[in-house]
Amino acid sequence: MNKRFEHRTCIVTGAASGIGLAIARLLLGEGATVIATDLAGEGLQTHFGNHPRVHVVVGDVSLADTADAVVAQALEHNLRIDALVNCAGIVLAGPAEQFSDDYWHRNLSVNLSGTFYMARAVGRAMIADSAGGAIVNIASMAGLNGVPENIGYVAAKHGVVGMTRGLSVEWARYGIRVNAVCPGLTDTPIVNDLSQQMPDMVEQRRHRIPLGRLSSPEEQANMVAFLLSDDASYVTGLIAHVDGGGHSIYSGYALPPTPC
Ligand code: NAD
Repeated sequence: MNKRFEHRTCIVTGAASGIGLAIARLLLGEGATVIATDLAGEGLQTHFGNHPRVHVVVGDVSLADTADAVVAQALEHNLRIDALVNCAGIVLAGPAEQFSDDYWHRNLSVNLSGTFYMARAVGRAMIADSAGGAIVNIASMAGLNGVPENIGYVAAKHGVVGMTRGLSVEWARYGIRVNAVCPGLTDTPIVNDLSQQMPDMVEQRRHRIPLGRLSSPEEQANMVAFLLSDDASYVTGLIAHVDGGGHSIYSGYALPPTPC
């Protein structure tokens, strides 16, 4: 197996579940030391409790203090931060005209402000030690397109895409690469919740994926690991669609039937 992350420290937010968990596991498998952070302390404990190369920080990314605590954890263990993956996210959906202040603020504070607070704290540390680094933000196809009845999430994820481009041009001079991954529909708890809230929407979306199925969390993790690794040393500001071709089909067309 490749060991692209040996002697490297990678921070992963949202590491207790779904895509973040798959990313943390892949990075660990390739030799990284991982600082795993999430609101869900129990999940972190279950998955990483006794792992010798995992440091766990339980916290809410929508609070800037959490980002500072994560960076402090690295410094406390004399670890240089090489990489950050911003994966923590929530979806609070509903029709725009009835969207509550609470849903709006929570969508923005976790998905957008949380991503910024983490990037800012890690960026400061990377700039201070002049050794560069890599950041991957997990956005969404909802960061590139409108999605009905999901206005807070759409606005936040468009912000994540914009922030990725902005940071990539601003921090290239420090050797910090900043990219984003836009997952298509991926088989995780967030999608199970969405299936319960909006079953028709999820089923319709599945039928419009050219590769004909949902992504696994591991398929998303593969792209993230590539972008964090030296294999992507000339890649920054990329907004990578990992969506089974979903972004490439014009919405007025139906997919041709699958041959029997
Ligand atoms: P998930 O619900 O399985 O995992 C999200 C994790 O984030 C959970 O462990 C949760 O506890 C954590 N989290 C939520 N709020 C937090 C907070 N305030 N502070 C710290 N941690 C918090 O979801 P997932 O499907 O793995 O989603 C991961 C990321 O991928 C999200 O940013 C999501 O928007 C994005 N995404 C997912 C899909 C999909 O189809 N699953 C598609 C596009 C984008």
